[in-house]
Amino acid sequence: MANYRERLIKSNYKIKGMDLFENYSLKKYNTFGIDVKASEFFSFVNIGELEEFVEKRSDSSKPFFILGGGSNVLFTQDFKGLVLHSKIENIEVIEENDRTVTLRVGSGLEWDKFVAYCVERSLYGIENLSLIPGNVGAAPVQNIGAYGTEVEEVIVGVCAFDFGKSERVYLTNDECCFRYRDSIFKRKTHEHMLITYVDFKLNKIPPHRRKLMGYRGNILKKRLKHYTNIVLDLIGALRTLKFNRKKKSIGIDYRILRNLMENLGFISLKKVRQTIINKRNSKIPSPKQIGNVGSFFKNPIVCMEKANKIKREFAGAVIYPYDTKNVKISAGWLIKNIELPKGYHKVGLYKDQTLIIVNKANASGREIFDYSQKILEKVQEKFQISLEREVVVI
Ligand SMILES: Cc1cc2nc3c(=O)[nH]c(=O)nc-3n(C[C@H](O)[C@H](O)[C@H](O)COP(=O)(O)OP(=O)(O)OC[C@H]3O[C@@H](n4cnc5c(N)ncnc54)[C@H](O)[C@@H]3O)c2cc1C
Repeated sequence: MANYRERLIKSNYKIKGMDLFENYSLKKYNTFGIDVKASEFFSFVNIGELEEFVEKRSDSSKPFFILGGGSNVLFTQDFKGLVLHSKIENIEVIEENDRTVTLRVGSGLEWDKFVAYCVERSLYGIENLSLIPGNVGAAPVQNIGAYGTEVEEVIVGVCAFDFGKSERVYLTNDECCFRYRDSIFKRKTHEHMLITYVDFKLNKIPPHRRKLMGYRGNILKKRLKHYTNIVLDLIGALRTLKFNRKKKSIGIDYRILRNLMENLGFISLKKVRQTIINKRNSKIPSPKQIGNVGSFFKNPIVCMEKANKIKREFAGAVIYPYDTKNVKISAGWLIKNIELPKGYHKVGLYKDQTLIIVNKANASGREIFDYSQKILEKVQEKFQISLEREVVVI
């Protein structure tokens, strides 16, 4: 059977450097490093190329999958269909005033390159999301988050190409239905939406000045409120101070301390980014060294009643606030407290990070999936809690 490229040439269609391949290895396109193949792989550098391709495509009934950097995907088999990969990388200013700037960013740009771009230009909002792997287009899909920030906070809207209708669409922040590691793009109804650009509104004014400006009253009242909060933060930080005599070290709640420094205006944007990069490098394995997708499971959301029961039965349960009725339980803590599946040599958990499954030695996607399934079952058995995979399984 002639491949698309040949068919397109036969139909007198100019490819103009378009990238279309058959039987294409996805090993370099997933951070678990699984060696699977896609029947077809098409990448494009602008929407025009994508639209031309769709127009000329003779078989639109084949399944397709949209792939970014593959840092949140587990391939358990070859993909018998078309993989679409955006290489749209441009950044455009679409609105600007004294306080904010709105940028339209191509979905194919590496996420961390975009963070670096913003930090370099003193634009506040996504510095806490430094070093998250993957591309800009996938950031709204799972509403990426880290260190108290979720990307939904800065997204104004999303430009997408609707494969069902073959047309360009725009979804506002509200229409994206962002939740914890979730958005409308994960629903069956929106799986055919390929994100082409994301609009981000970033701040030019540092957080401590924004806070000060946000208080009510005259400048004196604003300052008073601001410095009262700083003193309260300081007391809060001191309360978390812990001395470890054995290790001769002092510990303090990092988040409160950072909040305090931020409110004082002591930490520059570059410093925040560097601190986060250092912290992530010390805790999270780089996929360049060992295959992984970061957190494999989501922290399950449970009602207060259930959380209290767990707290009574198991000392040291790690629980985070969520909303007025529910809390999040640390999936890592749950996994730490089960007996780990035995008999797996190529796949396992990363050192102290029980939430990170690693491909230790050329494991297949199926082996990694089975291992995660055993963990899921053991957590269910011990805590009667259903863990949900954060990773997209194909
Ligand atoms: C070491 C490591 C650390 C991580 N840390 C974090 C973290 O701190 N916080 C966090 O939230 N995540 C984290 N992740 C997960 C991952 O980086 C994010 O989910 C990231 O956004 C995935 O981007 P990607 O381009 O690799 O998407 P992919 O893995 O390629 O795709 C993920 C999903 O998005 C869809 N998708 C991708 N691009 C598009 C598009 N243009 N249009 C429509 N749909 C699309 C895919 O179909 C798929 O369903 C981590 C991963 C690793 C490997």
